[in-house]
Amino acid sequence: MRVIRTIKELREALEYMRAGGHTPIGFVPTMGYLHEGHASLVRRAAEASGTVVMSIFVNPLQFGPGEDYATYPRDERRDLELAEREGADIVFIPSVEEMYPQAVKTTVSVSSLTERLCGASRPGHFDGVATVVSKLFNIVQPDLAFFGLKDAQQVAVLRRMVSDLNMNVQIVACPIMRESDGLALSSRNVYLSAEERSQALVLSRSLRAVRKALEEGTVHTAEEARAMLMSGIRESQLAVIDYAEILTYPDLEPIAGEQALLSVPGEMIMALAVKFGTTRLIDNNVFTAKEVRVLV
Ligand code: AMP
Repeated sequence: MRVIRTIKELREALEYMRAGGHTPIGFVPTMGYLHEGHASLVRRAAEASGTVVMSIFVNPLQFGPGEDYATYPRDERRDLELAEREGADIVFIPSVEEMYPQAVKTTVSVSSLTERLCGASRPGHFDGVATVVSKLFNIVQPDLAFFGLKDAQQVAVLRRMVSDLNMNVQIVACPIMRESDGLALSSRNVYLSAEERSQALVLSRSLRAVRKALEEGTVHTAEEARAMLMSGIRESQLAVIDYAEILTYPDLEPIAGEQALLSVPGEMIMALAVKFGTTRLIDNNVFTAKEVRVLV
């Protein structure tokens, strides 16, 4: 596995891999402090690709003022061990100066999809994500790029960006990896105190409870489902709800409160963002009426 820190060297290495027929190029962008969620993306990339490139870059552009850019957890040595173990061929770790040598004047902005959920609570966040992912796609020119559904809105935004801008890359969405008790893996979980960690289980628990209630027919409408999500989270005294919403996916359009969820065609998302102390956690479940009905 090669560790590369400059764009020039990465381009040369990838040219060599392409010339040697080590294609397709699979790409896994991350911010590091890797866990089993990231590992699952690398494994999936390794199955589908001739060359796996992982990037580790804490992108200042996607953090708002007062967010955790400066304190975002980092552990390069451990990250490199995980990347090698899971099958990465190249790990790209650029400095901020390498990625942004001058003040940025060109940004990529995806409208409407970024107005709700995390886009509403973190203004500018998705412009930062779309801009850095565009830059990384231009540098790596991957055939496949792997993203986790843990960040389902990010997947929706990036798919739309790729489609609108005719980028020649296929976005592969991978399932959410969880601890055995249900907590979605996140680099930010290290911020949680023992009490917060234990109360944070209300996120996955409420998502599961609503799914079950829909399957059993005890909850029908969007409004009922949303109320059940909220009351599930309120079982934790430490939880401060940022949002708990049910929308269509991937368009992220609202669903009328009185509408029966099982009458919605296509995919839907139940999405949560909840703060425990200073730590903001997200979780979600993407589902279709058909899937739920199969189980009824
Ligand atoms: P991050 O390092 O948080 O920017 O995440 C890098 C990639 O890993 C993104 O595509 C995330 O969606 C994905 N990811 C993070 N946590 C998980 C998880 N628990 N399960 C699956 N993918 C994840």
